[in-house]
Amino acid sequence: MALINCDKCGALMIWKPTHLCSECLRFQLEEVNKVKDYLAEHPQASIMEVERNTKVSLRTIQEMASKS
Ligand SMILES: [Zn+2]
Repeated sequence: MALINCDKCGALMIWKPTHLCSECLRFQLEEVNKVKDYLAEHPQASIMEVERNTKVSLRTIQEMASKS
């Protein structure tokens, strides 16, 4: 059983592919949903625009973009 620190808050946790503790994972899911909602209404929005209007971090948006 490998223990790692959460990428975001540094909490000690059991290794997970996301590298995020359950608290940060829930927070990230909320952010992902915010971005999805924004893009549903503004399909032509740029990453910068999404960041400005949803307050979601650029890194999270870029990670989403690279997965889709
Ligand atoms: Zn965390």
